[in-house]
Amino acid sequence: MAAKITAIRGMNDILPIPTKDNPVTSQRWQAVEQILRHTMHQYGYKEIRLPIVENTPLFKRAIGEITDIVEKEMYTFTDRGGDSITLRPEGTAGCVRACLEHGLTYNQTQRLWYTGPMFRYERPQKGRYRQFHQFGVETFGMASADIDAELILLTARLWRELGLTEVVHLEINTLGEVQARQTYKEALVAYLSTHLEHLDEDSKRRLSSNPLRILDSKDAKTQALLANAPTLSDYLDAESTQHFAQLRAILDVAGIHYRVNPRLVRGLDYYNKTVFEWVTTALGAQGTVCAGGRYDGLVTQLGGQATPAVGFAMGLERLVLLLDTLQQNTNSTEADIYLVSESSTIQHALLVAETLRNQLPNLRIVSHCGGGQLKNQLKRADKTGAKLALLVGEQEVLNQTVTVKWLQTGEQQQIAQTELTTYLSQQIATLSW
Ligand code: ATP
Ligand code: MG
Repeated sequence: MAAKITAIRGMNDILPIPTKDNPVTSQRWQAVEQILRHTMHQYGYKEIRLPIVENTPLFKRAIGEITDIVEKEMYTFTDRGGDSITLRPEGTAGCVRACLEHGLTYNQTQRLWYTGPMFRYERPQKGRYRQFHQFGVETFGMASADIDAELILLTARLWRELGLTEVVHLEINTLGEVQARQTYKEALVAYLSTHLEHLDEDSKRRLSSNPLRILDSKDAKTQALLANAPTLSDYLDAESTQHFAQLRAILDVAGIHYRVNPRLVRGLDYYNKTVFEWVTTALGAQGTVCAGGRYDGLVTQLGGQATPAVGFAMGLERLVLLLDTLQQNTNSTEADIYLVSESSTIQHALLVAETLRNQLPNLRIVSHCGGGQLKNQLKRADKTGAKLALLVGEQEVLNQTVTVKWLQTGEQQQIAQTELTTYLSQQIATLSW
C-alpha cells in the first residue's frame, strides 16, 4: 500500500466532528464567525479581503527585520519567476499595502476588518500553530484616543456576545513616541549592560538588536533584574501621556476594567502610544487572545502620506479553544428532519424536500441518499439526532401523502402533501434547535 500523505505539522483540518487532536468543530467556528461579522456590522466596519501571499520585502519593512516573525517565523519561498514571496504571518502589512495601492486612506478615514489564515514557522503546541487564523481590525485617519477606545469597547462587546467576559482581562500600556522610546531604550541598555551575568541568552542577544523585547522575557532571573530597571513611563512624551489619560478616562466611564502593565511592549516594531492585550488564564501559556495598538508610523514607512492608524488581531484558534473548554454542550445534531424513501420514489421524495426548503427555510432537512432498506434508513435517521422522519414510499406517492414519524416516541401519522408545510410550521418550535 502506498504511504499515507498527512497534513503538514502545525496545520489543522477543521472538521464537523470533534477529534482527539482538534476538539473544536467547524460549527463552533461558524458560530464565532457569525458573531464577529455581526459586531463589525453594528459598528459600521467594512470587510477587506487580502491575498494570502505578498512580496517578502513588505513584511520585512512593515514588521521590522529584528523581530521574531521576520527573523525566524516566516514561510518565504522563491517562486517560479525568481521573486521572493512570503505566506502572510499577519494581516496589518497587507492591509496597509492594499490601502495605499487603492488610495483608501487618501483624504478619508477607514474602519476595516478581515479574517483568514496566517502562517508562522513556530513550534506547534496548544494554542500555537503554523497555520492559524486571525480576525483583525485596522482603522486609518484618526489620531485621537477615542478610536483606540472604540476598538477596546468593540472587543469587550465581542466577549459579552461570546460569553467570555468572565475569563478574559484587559492589559494596556503606552509606548510613547519614537523619540521618547529611543531615549528610554538607551537608559534600559545602559542599566542592563551593567548586569549582563543575570540576563538569559535571548535577552543578551536582544540587548543590541531589540532591547524593548527584553521586557517580555519569561526568564525569572531576567524578570528579577527588570524589577529595578528604569521604566518607560518615566520617559514618556507629554502628548502620549495625555493620549493615554484620555483612553483611560473613556474606559473608566464605560466601565471597562483594565490593568496598566508597564511591561507590555508587543513584539512588533511598528507600534506607538497605545498597546493592549486581552489575556486569559484558561489556556495555559498561550493566553493572549487579542492584541493590538496604535501604529501611526507604518503608513509612511510603507511609502504613504503620514496617516494615524490603530488596530488589533485576534487569534481565532485560541478563541474557539477557550469557548470549547467553557461550553461542553453544543448542539451536535445533523438534521431537524430526515427524509426516507424507496428506490422507486426517491425522485418524488427529493422534490418534497425541495418544496419544504423553499417554504421552511430555517429547517435542516437531510434526504437519505444511497438507497437501502427502510428499516436501515430509519436507524440512520435516529443517528442524526433528527426529531422527525418523513417517509415518502410508493403508498404515499399514490395517496399524495407523507408519513410523519416522531423518532423519539415512534408515533406516526399520514399527512396530505398539501398540508405538510402547515403541519410542520406548527411544530417548528419543537423541531428546530
Ligand atoms: P505570542 O506572544 O503568543 O507569540 P504574538 O505577539 O506573536 O503572540 P501577534 O502577532 O500579536 O501575536 O498576533 C495576534 C494574535 O494572534 C495573538 O495574540 C494570538 O492570539 C494569535 N497568534 C499569534 N501567533 C499564533 C500562532 N502561531 N498560533 C495561533 N495563534 C497565534
Ligand atoms: Mg509570536
